Amino acid sequence: MLKKLFKSFRSPLKRNAPHHSAPEVLGPRQHSLQRSQFSRNAVNVVERLQHAGYQAYLVGGCVRDTLLGIHPKDFDVATSATPEQVRAEFRNARVIGRRFKLAHVHFGREIIEVATFRSNHPQGDEEEDSHQSSRNESGRILRDNVYGNQEDDAQRRDFTINALYFDVTGERILDYARGMHDVRNRLVRLIGDPEQRYLEDPVRMLRAVRFAAKLDFDIEKHSAAPIQRLAPMLRDIPSARLFDEVLKLFLAGYAEHTFELLVEYDLFAPLFPASAAALKRNPEYAGKLIRQALANTDDRIAQGKTVTPAFLFAALLWPALPARALQLQDRGMPPIPAMQEAAHDLITEQCKRIAIPKRFTIPIREIWDMQERLPRRSGKRADQLLENPRFRAGYDFLLLREDAGEKTDGLGDWWTDYQDSNDSERRGMIRDLANRPDDEGAPAAAKRRRGGRRRRGPRTDAPASE
Ligand code: ATP
Ligand code: MG
Repeated sequence: MLKKLFKSFRSPLKRNAPHHSAPEVLGPRQHSLQRSQFSRNAVNVVERLQHAGYQAYLVGGCVRDTLLGIHPKDFDVATSATPEQVRAEFRNARVIGRRFKLAHVHFGREIIEVATFRSNHPQGDEEEDSHQSSRNESGRILRDNVYGNQEDDAQRRDFTINALYFDVTGERILDYARGMHDVRNRLVRLIGDPEQRYLEDPVRMLRAVRFAAKLDFDIEKHSAAPIQRLAPMLRDIPSARLFDEVLKLFLAGYAEHTFELLVEYDLFAPLFPASAAALKRNPEYAGKLIRQALANTDDRIAQGKTVTPAFLFAALLWPALPARALQLQDRGMPPIPAMQEAAHDLITEQCKRIAIPKRFTIPIREIWDMQERLPRRSGKRADQLLENPRFRAGYDFLLLREDAGEKTDGLGDWWTDYQDSNDSERRGMIRDLANRPDDEGAPAAAKRRRGGRRRRGPRTDAPASE
């Protein structure tokens, strides 16, 4: 009681933390981190806040990743200063906030995110003020902008490995949740009772998988156990938040591994219900297409190339299209309009789960439309298609379908050759098409392969059964 009073006195922002524990403090010789390994700007932010009399630490992903020898993607700071107090210290700071208020300190293109110590919603003092966190019937936290002290801040974080604080001045690590133990043992472990923590925020299930894939860690068994049962709760998460999370899952360079874990933990179906159904109906083709698309994405990221979410979503959803188009055809609709309508319906339905913005749904449709147009090459059509800004994505998508075993009668090779040919060769290729029994048919089987642009991956002639 006395301890509690003392703590509340010491930290006027503090509410009511369930349990207190002193952190384990690791001095400079007990760990491998050095301040020089962190962004100069982030270190400066921490030092200025400390000089102004606040507590401030580097925290979360940057500490975890640096310990593991991974280059952090950004640097987060946790502090006792409120966002307004941070803004008062830095001319280049802005207060932002969707789910909760934060300060962003801008240094050219680098943004240091500065978050005030927060608490994980004390229960029982609900009426205390309007900044209180609130929950729905299942325990999900709806608002959580409740300030707290550093211990509270550690306890409200998701995983033990994300609750390590680095004091840049003393080069000490403050470990409130045995995070160092889990870093050493390569375990993703929730802080507190796993079921309760997933109920509070089901997105933590996705985060568990994301960190396991990124770090190549196991999910600790008590943290893993409830996931399959609770996975359907993802259906209640706002679609805009899920869009952000899905991009983090698939655009961080380890999408293929992430996908395997999502499927293993039954998390894929609540995100992509139609694709999950297609995977069940036709595991070989759908699985190959999706995995290949994700592997290509990972390769491109590893090479520092850009990737577009549109291509990724086009691939994730494509296996669900044919069954829908066939249903419409069964009701008497001609093939092309049936495909168009199936595409429209599928995207509309998917957007209810994951709010894919229009700037991506439009190119998804264009990539799919290209698949209808690439076989029709006669006359001037082939050259017109080459001029189409979506040609490259459509062609890559065609190769992906072929790699997954779809039979296209050598269409990918034809387009590869066409791009590598000069004008007169191209005219010859179009003439060859006209000489075939089917005007839109494939090029001669014995077509010579040229150097230059080559297909990725081996050819496969397995039939597509969807
Ligand atoms: P990365 O930036 O590499 O994706 P990260 O750990 O920094 O990983 P962020 O999403 O940037 O992840 O979040 C920063 C920190 O905020 C996390 O390390 C974690 O401590 C905390 N955090 C983020 N999301 C949640 C959540 N849903 N529940 C509890 N804590 C969270
Ligand atoms: Mg981060």
